[in-house]
Order: sequence, then structure tokens, then C-alpha cells
Amino acid sequence: MRFTAFIYTDPDRVPGRRLGVEDGDRIADLTDGLGANLGAALATRGADGVTDHAHRALSDLDTTWVEANGVRRLAPLPRPGKIVCVGLNYHGHCREQGVEPPDYPMLFAKFANTITDPGAPVTRPRATERLDLECELAVILGRPASRVAPEHALDHVFGYTILNDITARDLQREDRQWLRAKGWDGFAPLGPVAVTRDEMGDPGGLAIRSWVNGEPWQDSTTADMIWEVATLIAFVSRTIHLDPGDVIATGTPAGVGHFHDPPRFLVGGDVMSCQIEGIGILENAVVDEQPRADDHAAAAGVEDA
Ligand code: MG
Repeated sequence: MRFTAFIYTDPDRVPGRRLGVEDGDRIADLTDGLGANLGAALATRGADGVTDHAHRALSDLDTTWVEANGVRRLAPLPRPGKIVCVGLNYHGHCREQGVEPPDYPMLFAKFANTITDPGAPVTRPRATERLDLECELAVILGRPASRVAPEHALDHVFGYTILNDITARDLQREDRQWLRAKGWDGFAPLGPVAVTRDEMGDPGGLAIRSWVNGEPWQDSTTADMIWEVATLIAFVSRTIHLDPGDVIATGTPAGVGHFHDPPRFLVGGDVMSCQIEGIGILENAVVDEQPRADDHAAAAGVEDA
């Protein structure tokens, strides 16, 4: 099943965030039964409760339907409790920067402030001249996971979506850790839909690609991952108790702008497209940050510190 969060574009319909499930070119509105927040629904009803409700809604005569082109898509999870990210998880991404694969997964975090809706602009802060994209398969937890065995790890997955792990390469280098470089407001476009585990099947052989202004940047497959999804869940859950609605971003393949020759970086007006087989395309434009009256850090002279 393909779950989607959306807003009706018809002003005569109910305003605000909605949760639905796709059926061909239509969307069944599940909000009255499940609420509008997929993460909260997973936490209170469990993955099976959410999918059972959706199955019933698809054949229920009382279900409200909308044409898929009659909505504006939102990130399928509005505020994940945790966004655990994996650095250096593709052989090709290690090769393009001349480093050996690490001995174990390198974890870092993004916060919920980074979530951006499909189609919404990502602001390039004035603090960076080296903004880059990273198309990644994102795992959505459906059941709590703590110290799970790899052979049982996929049982804890609700589904998958796309996360664009936007990164300011200059800040990544200067800060020597990645919170600012990857944690800036809006640096995690998410979507366009959440595809359930049973519909996706094996997450280990999916085409994963990105483009900027239609020009190919990344073109790989999740088979190039150093650690597969089940191994990552097992590894992360040794340290961090994962809850339904949490996200693991599984790393990016080769082709990011930083390692082009010459390097390429994103500026206002660029359009980023991230595609993963079986999920869809996550598209966001870049806009340059404009000077703001409330930019007190700049006024204090620490804008670029
Ligand atoms: Mg990344």
C-alpha cells in the first residue's frame, strides 16, 4: 500500500493536513479513522492496525475519495521522533572520495526541523556556498525495535520513502561534526509517499537516482549498500530504542555534487529530483536565503562563525 499525506487543493474541501492511501489515480482519505499523522497512527494502532484500517477503507462505501491530482503532497511523516542517518553506506560513495568503507556504520542524526514537504522549496542558507544533495532510501519503523536480530529486523519496518539528506559541505568540513551541515531547517525533504514493506519487497536491489535541473547526478542501486537495511536496523537498535514512526536514512550512493569534476553545488533556482524504484520522485527547488530583520546572529557578528 502507498500511504500519502496531503492537503486538498479544492478550497471547498476540509482544510489542513490529511492522511490517505493511494488506489490508482485516487486517494482514499483515512483521516477520520486514523488521524492526519502517520507516525502517531503507527504509535497508537501499530503497523497492522494502520494497514488493516486502510484495507477496510478501500472497500467501504462511506470512504471519501479524491483524485490524486487534486491534492498537494506533504511529507508522509510530519515530525519523526528520530531521524537516524548513516554516513558512508555505499561502496561507490566511498570510492568517489577515496576512502575505505568504515568498519561499522557511521551514525549521525537530523532533527524534525529538517523535514520538508515534497514540492516545497529548500532554503540555501547564506552561511554555505557548498550546498549538496544526497538521495537516500528511508526506512519507516512500524514496531518498536531494541536490540533486534538482523534476521528479524525487517519485521519492524512499516515501509519506505525517500529522504534527501541535504548537506552544506563547507560547514561539514569546518565544524568537524555534522549537526549544522545537515541539521539546518528544511534539510530533509521527505516523500512523496510511504510504501509498505510488503509492497516494496526486498529493499536491496532498488534503482536509486537523482537529477539537478534534469541533469543526472546519482545513478545507482541499493545493492551497492555496504550494510543492508536489516543490518542497519540491528546495529542502530543496539544503541537507540526505535519507536514506530522513527526514520533511518540509509546513506547515499555515488554522484553527489561535491565529487563532480569540477565540484557542483546547489544555488537558488536549481531543482533537485530524487527517485527510488517503487516509491516515486521527490522533487524540491532551492531558494537562496534573503537577509532577514530577525537575523540576530548576523547582527551579533556570528553569522558565519
Ligand atoms: Mg547522507
